[in-house]
Amino acid sequence: MFDINKYVRPNIRQLKPYSSAKEEYKGKEAIFLDANENPYNAPYNRYPDPLQTKLKEKISELKNIRPDQLFLGNGSDEAIDLLIRIFCSPGKDSIIIADPTYGMYKVCADINNINVLEISLTEDFQPDATAILEKTDENSKIIMLCSPNNPTGNSFDKNKVLKILDEFNGIVVIDEAYIDFSKNNSYINVLDQYNNLVVLQTFSKAWGMAGIRLGMAIASPDIINYLNKIKYPYNVNCITQEIALKAISNKHKKDKWVSDILAQREYLANKLSTMAFVKKIYPTDANFFLVKVEQPKNIYNYLVNQKIIVRDRSNVNLCEGCLRFTVGTPKENKILINALNKYETK
Ligand SMILES: *Cc1c(COP(=O)(O)O)cnc(C)c1O
Repeated sequence: MFDINKYVRPNIRQLKPYSSAKEEYKGKEAIFLDANENPYNAPYNRYPDPLQTKLKEKISELKNIRPDQLFLGNGSDEAIDLLIRIFCSPGKDSIIIADPTYGMYKVCADINNINVLEISLTEDFQPDATAILEKTDENSKIIMLCSPNNPTGNSFDKNKVLKILDEFNGIVVIDEAYIDFSKNNSYINVLDQYNNLVVLQTFSKAWGMAGIRLGMAIASPDIINYLNKIKYPYNVNCITQEIALKAISNKHKKDKWVSDILAQREYLANKLSTMAFVKKIYPTDANFFLVKVEQPKNIYNYLVNQKIIVRDRSNVNLCEGCLRFTVGTPKENKILINALNKYETK
């Protein structure tokens, strides 16, 4: 096991965090004259629970983890930014990403003046574990892996991921934003073996709540403590906490959406596979898929004209000629297929 403290920036290790009124007195039944809140307009007049205790209890039950292994943020994007700021010194340290992948890793690193070492995935969209490990040096603090990966849609080979976890001296982040759509297990299962592992999940995709901004980092308590130490005190607002609690108590809704989306993913793949301009449909473990087509820009623009917006990924490494389709409702998907059928016969 790692001594996580060794990898933390010295100024963060020594930081004395802001202590909020809500943290200093934790009781519920009292007259609160401590935080300069307005006494009217309950419940919105009160600052939210800074550590989201009730919500974390519910999520922990759901994920079969302990609350001290869980950090909640303003989207998982917040966790990505905080992790970079905990472990990487500006102008000195680097993160490693497996290209192509989710754009926020590089943006967060760039904002913080952290070097980004991009190692291309192999042709079958798998991380090249050996190349990644060879590229690391004493300034490489974080390896970012995304599985199922965005924009390619596939899950990474478990042996490759475990090799990286076993051999890298630093933090390994596995972004599982799409794990609910995957047939594979979460890396939450190996948390007890790797205290340098951070698993990211989100309420933005399967849970259908991108608008409330709620993301999760699941890791060893050492790492969670540092995330809590440097976050904004009230990073998850009270409305978000309330809506998330309600959603969790109706988990069957999420499960139904996931199974509907998976059925529609099958439908779309079948329909697309019969179209002459479709060259390849890549296997997917997410709620979207990558499709290689002839003349991607023409198809993209044609669809925009029909008010159907897909993602043009044709300029992205290894994704030449590719469009990325998110699975919609049955009605939306039918409209998409009809439009593409018309394009074909134009
Ligand atoms: C959509 C997505 C997220 C979600 O980010 P939030 O900030 O939680 O909305 C995270 N990672 C990847 C790879 C994504 O595609």
